[in-house]
Amino acid sequence: MKRPLIAGNWKMFKTTGEATNLVQTIKAGVYKINDCDMVICPPFTALAAVSKILTETPIELGAQNMHPETEGAFTGEISPAMLKDVGCRYVILGHSERRQYFFETDAFVNEKIKTALKYSLIPIVCIGETLEEREDKRQFEVVKNQFDHSFKDLSKEEIVKLVIAYEPVWAIGTGKTATPDQAEQMHSYIRRLLKEKYSEDAANRIAILYGGSVKPDNIASLVKKPNIDGALVGGASLKAESFVQIVSQAVAEVEAGASS
Ligand code: PEP
Repeated sequence: MKRPLIAGNWKMFKTTGEATNLVQTIKAGVYKINDCDMVICPPFTALAAVSKILTETPIELGAQNMHPETEGAFTGEISPAMLKDVGCRYVILGHSERRQYFFETDAFVNEKIKTALKYSLIPIVCIGETLEEREDKRQFEVVKNQFDHSFKDLSKEEIVKLVIAYEPVWAIGTGKTATPDQAEQMHSYIRRLLKEKYSEDAANRIAILYGGSVKPDNIASLVKKPNIDGALVGGASLKAESFVQIVSQAVAEVEAGASS
């Protein structure tokens, strides 16, 4: 039975006090749920406070970004050692907002992945096309290009440590979700790329999350698809109730699928 992974990306929301309240409510809401991997990615300033609350819970802590160098004169940046120090296990890399507003390239994302792995951080690497690219029917070409360059020179042992998030840019924060069929089509394409470059076994071990306006009412139809292993959730992870519902709906759908 598939074990879903639901990750919440809080983006640039929540002061430390707000983050503390939110994570306490989430923790109380999911305490009976065992069959789901959960990750919360608050802003850097709230990592330490959230980390303390997540101690001895099954919810893991993640960061939203990281610099590829281990330390140095990079004002305003954060290093992998700093993230480990505060209790992070995951780090989101190459989010489309970083690519779009901060001009991050696939080559830069590739450097970050390699450093994250050296520090035993699990990278959640985001790839996905823009609306214009989809309208031009170039979505597969764009995703293949991101795949080839972001994952350049990664060995089989390294790639299996990654989580991949397919996030069509046109569906992020817009309320537009890719249909489950559109998402599944891209997820199975990514799985095929993994098989071709690595092996069937490697491809099957890697979680591929969908991201883009995931809500309690659409998560079930997404995780029902064979190649969708969970979700990276932005807006709906900012409210405890909707995040907890997304987790419970995902688990319920996977269990129902396994028993049918
Ligand atoms: C995201 O931030 O990765 C995301 C998918 O956002 P939203 O769920 O708000 O579309």
